[in-house]
Amino acid sequence: IIRYENVGKAFGALQAVTDINLTVHEGEFITLVGPSGCGKSTLLNMAAGIFAPTSGAVSYRGEKVSAFNRKVGYMTQSDHLLHWRTVAGNIAVPLEIAGLSKKQIRDRIEDLLDLVGLKGFGDNYPNELSGGMRKRCALARLLAYDPETLLFDEPFAALDAQLRLKMQVEVRRIATQLKKSILFVTHDLDEAVALADRCAIFTSRPGTIREVLDIPLPPDRDLFHLRHNRDYV
Ligand code: ATP
Ligand code: MG
Repeated sequence: IIRYENVGKAFGALQAVTDINLTVHEGEFITLVGPSGCGKSTLLNMAAGIFAPTSGAVSYRGEKVSAFNRKVGYMTQSDHLLHWRTVAGNIAVPLEIAGLSKKQIRDRIEDLLDLVGLKGFGDNYPNELSGGMRKRCALARLLAYDPETLLFDEPFAALDAQLRLKMQVEVRRIATQLKKSILFVTHDLDEAVALADRCAIFTSRPGTIREVLDIPLPPDRDLFHLRHNRDYV
């Protein structure tokens, strides 16, 4: 669904990534792992149409990404919730833009709150929530756009180990349930391996992908169980 072909990106004299070849197939969960500054965010930005590559091409469903890509939902490290709106009010933003009726919006919000495990928190304000709950709220709002493909940029980097694990389980469950294609960036190799169907590994700057590993686990594996059996949390 997303294809990077010999992609390079320079910012002035700085070559951020070189010669990237990577394909995200439909319905696949790919993690991109690599050290700080290797170009992970740059790659996501090109799939989202925020930057254009300086060499090679990025395509989405066979078409060159040349403008803002409305088919993808992009979750960055900060959640950008509107603090003057409730949880429900935040999730409502894309639904209001889409022009849904009040009742449709209410129903959709209930479904989304349920999906991300925030049932009963619709009337709370973001500053009344924990960090993990705010992430879930941001995720629910992103899903309200009903994007075909999800891009995640280290979404859980700021969370403690336990919350992180919870969110990983959540994202994995949502991915399986909604059958989305996902490109998930992290610098945590354990997280990358635990979540993915396939894992792409970056070298350091200028970033280029050296390996794409096929993770030999079924996509419906019990991630929570798997992680708990390691002396982790
Ligand atoms: P991190 O894990 O720290 O988020 P990253 O792998 O996401 O790192 P990028 O943000 O993609 O790395 O940056 C790759 C390189 O490109 C860095 O050297 C960075 O300074 C540079 N870079 C990224 N965005 C820009 C920009 N808009 N203008 C100039 N240079 C940039
Ligand atoms: Mg980054």
